[in-house]
Amino acid sequence: MMDHNDDYQLETLALRTGTVRSQFNENSEAMFLTSSFVFENAAQAARRFIGEEPGNIYSRFTNPTVTMFEERLAVLEGAEQCVATASGMSAILSLCMGLLKAGDHVVASQSLFGSTVNLFNTVMKKFGVETSFVSATDVAQWQAAVKPNTKLFFLETPSNPLTELSDIAAIAKVAKGCGALLAVDNCFCTPILQRPLDLGADIVVHSATKYIDGQGRVLGGAVLGSKKLMEPVYGFLRTTGPTMSAFNAWVFLKGLETLKLRMEAHSANALELALWLERQPNVARVFYPGLPSHPQYELAKHQQRTGGGIVAFEVKGGKEAAWRVIDNTKMLSITANLGDTKTTITHPATTTHARITPEARAAAGIGDGLIRIAVGLEAVVDIQNDLARGLA
Ligand SMILES: *Cc1c(COP(=O)(O)O)cnc(C)c1O
Repeated sequence: MMDHNDDYQLETLALRTGTVRSQFNENSEAMFLTSSFVFENAAQAARRFIGEEPGNIYSRFTNPTVTMFEERLAVLEGAEQCVATASGMSAILSLCMGLLKAGDHVVASQSLFGSTVNLFNTVMKKFGVETSFVSATDVAQWQAAVKPNTKLFFLETPSNPLTELSDIAAIAKVAKGCGALLAVDNCFCTPILQRPLDLGADIVVHSATKYIDGQGRVLGGAVLGSKKLMEPVYGFLRTTGPTMSAFNAWVFLKGLETLKLRMEAHSANALELALWLERQPNVARVFYPGLPSHPQYELAKHQQRTGGGIVAFEVKGGKEAAWRVIDNTKMLSITANLGDTKTTITHPATTTHARITPEARAAAGIGDGLIRIAVGLEAVVDIQNDLARGLA
């Protein structure tokens, strides 16, 4: 029984879409922990295997709990189809393996998640796919990087850790003009704050590990787009196996149910913290799309519903001062993960961005005094007090 109605609001869809009840009529979606499914007889098995009859065969192909998650996220993103994966990185890998071939060219934002940069520079390069990295914010650079064999544009917005915004609609126009697909990593905003497909993107990818779970428990990812584009992506997944587990899909289904409430609360806390940080004498600069001081505040206001949960700030005094702030916290979790109910704090220059050269780091604007906070759901005053000790 599907409780799905396109007229519902986003928060209702996040609770009601995709639900399929078993014969027990459970209210909370069931977790189908089974690797395979049993057939009535040999003839049914044959019909299932050749695709003549729809239905589950084996959980590398489909699993009912995973399907429920896929349908729910697809509706939230406004996508025809969602393909769930074992992690965010396997979502990006499956997208590339499904849609690219040797000899193709990719134009990508230079402000991408570190492992995504590595994927393009090592794995995809080894298989004959070349990538040009361009500014996240300068649309002219995207146009200038296009080659006759350009097949894919790839970006994430806001970027990590500096919260630079890419203008999705403007870059989508450039992609369309040269016959390339635009894929957007929507991990930081989730469909609650930003729907890239509505702005002209062709594909959305997620690390569900972050806000979709929202409580730091499991890894997962998703690729979303038209049925036509998702067919080869699903084909790659089905054959090679980086599929989402039923257990993780169940956690993500429950995560989606509170996603809107959490994104609003993360955003409200982040804005309050960012405004407070701007008033601290030892803070040189604060990066947050919800601040009027953000260079792309106007774009943020029409591209995103709110600023999201990620705040970065530069303390005066370089690495030593930044480490002092981190090491004087008692409550914040010192970890590079993000999108958790618990606030996390990290020093990008020596953790998430440690493996790129100091020159590349400087060019990207990631200074030694930069700290990134993924603002959680604690009382803001407690987060402020925890940071104030090291900032004094
Ligand atoms: C974490 C992250 C990824 C990778 O996701 P995993 O689930 O860790 O594989 C990709 N993109 C962004 C923006 C991320 O933050």
